[in-house]
Amino acid sequence: MSISIENKTRSFSKEEAEVFVSYVEKALSLILSMDYIDKAIKDTDAEISVDIRLVGSDAIRKLNAQYREKDKVTDVLSFPILDMTDGKLQNKLMPYDFSYDEDKKLLPIGDVVICPERARKQAEEYGHSMDREMVFLAVHSLLHLLGFDHENGRDEDLMFSKQEEIMTGIGLPRSSNDDSKMIESVEDDHPVGEMLSHCGYCALVGRPNVGKSTLLNTISGMKLAITSHKPQTTRNNIQAIYNRDDAQVIFVDTPGIHKPQSKLAEFMVDSSFRAAKGADVVVLMADGRFPKPANVEIRAAEMARKLKKPIILAVNKADAVTKESLLPLIANYSKIADFVDIVPISALKDDGVDELMDVIISKLPSAPRYFPIEEVTDQSEREISAELIREQILHYTNEEIPHGTAVEIDAFEEVLKDDAEDSYDRSLIKIHASIICERDSHKSILLGKNGQMIKRIGTAARENIEKMTDCKVFLDLHIKVRKDWKNRQVFLDEFGYKKKED
Ligand code: GDP
Ligand code: MG
Repeated sequence: MSISIENKTRSFSKEEAEVFVSYVEKALSLILSMDYIDKAIKDTDAEISVDIRLVGSDAIRKLNAQYREKDKVTDVLSFPILDMTDGKLQNKLMPYDFSYDEDKKLLPIGDVVICPERARKQAEEYGHSMDREMVFLAVHSLLHLLGFDHENGRDEDLMFSKQEEIMTGIGLPRSSNDDSKMIESVEDDHPVGEMLSHCGYCALVGRPNVGKSTLLNTISGMKLAITSHKPQTTRNNIQAIYNRDDAQVIFVDTPGIHKPQSKLAEFMVDSSFRAAKGADVVVLMADGRFPKPANVEIRAAEMARKLKKPIILAVNKADAVTKESLLPLIANYSKIADFVDIVPISALKDDGVDELMDVIISKLPSAPRYFPIEEVTDQSEREISAELIREQILHYTNEEIPHGTAVEIDAFEEVLKDDAEDSYDRSLIKIHASIICERDSHKSILLGKNGQMIKRIGTAARENIEKMTDCKVFLDLHIKVRKDWKNRQVFLDEFGYKKKED
């Protein structure tokens, strides 16, 4: 018997591969000793040989597309060489069925391709060891190579019972009601309501453009809030949630604090204030390039003092300035508030962010975990999609299209795959959205020559929504003009900029 392994992925270590091979060897000899295997195979004077290749998700997706016309990442693929049914050869062995490796005579029965990355996810899901999952997949495909099948309703039970028999035989039995018990225990690890030594809300305040959204993105490792060169992109309080075994931090990204100029601006001031009011700690973010606090920062510091919140100064864009130049900034800012700590960071380069997190966490009270650990944001994909479209509008248009545009998602339809097992198994998301602007002239800018502008906005937004949802997206954009909507409460309500009563 000869099992050759080719490990083409970094996600499976050499040590893991060694353990894996020793189990697979045991499994194959156990299978070959069983009485349902063709005598001709058992009695052959050649070594039964199997090639196992371990590959990444992309590679297995390609193989699936190529051989099974399925654009899908699967855990395992088997390519039998001999024509067998339920362990029995359908044709006599012929000389060409054999091959030679130096003076060794081999009988290759097929190739197996396994995706360890996928296996690791499944192991986590089912709550058993990676060893068991990998060997289980190998045993499954060895049985396939020998003509056992579970598809087309044939021999399903036979295959599964054989499989468990072998797993038990080699010392990797399924623990009693494995799956359900283990799934529970995964959730039980970090249940909502679990007492944490530090848990709470952190209001992130600072003037537009200092890098608040960038920080949230860095923290959550995912594009949540919107970053843009243009101020005030973030209009709703987007929450990002940071999880650690002993802590949970819920971030409230606040729009810039500035003078009310219209009802919309008024709301924005309101909501940032509200965010700070409900927070356990306030982080004031400053731009390291500007040594003097501006009015808005002075007001934010005042607000924290009035609300009796601990306030931390995060000096962002530290990558863009020298250390020395931060000293006058720190001296100036120290005059406006009694900061519990001052942390220079680069949100963009992920420098000092861990230190900042430690300081924030140290200021949070002991409290029950508020959100499940897998919840990264309480914003729906629908809302984030609207923000992603808006981000591209700001990106592609200039000052003429001010912040007087809103995006409304008219329809968000998920098309599930034919063989979908849950609601995340989607093949396509169809989004119909309207861009609401204030003037006809804005509409024509948004449309562009021959509709080029809206096309560009749509393409870029679609790509980002695809990244966010990990799904193919069809995006249909319309432009609507509603004059002076910024000052009309009905429209504000309609677009979700509702004043909330406390
Ligand atoms: P917000 O308005 O406070 O949310 O700011 P954004 O996160 O949208 O960032 C505004 C601009 O500053 C973007 O162009 C970012 O790329 C840039 N920026 C954010 N953080 C950093 C940083 O640490 N260093 C540098 N050099 N630029 C940054
Ligand atoms: Mg922002």
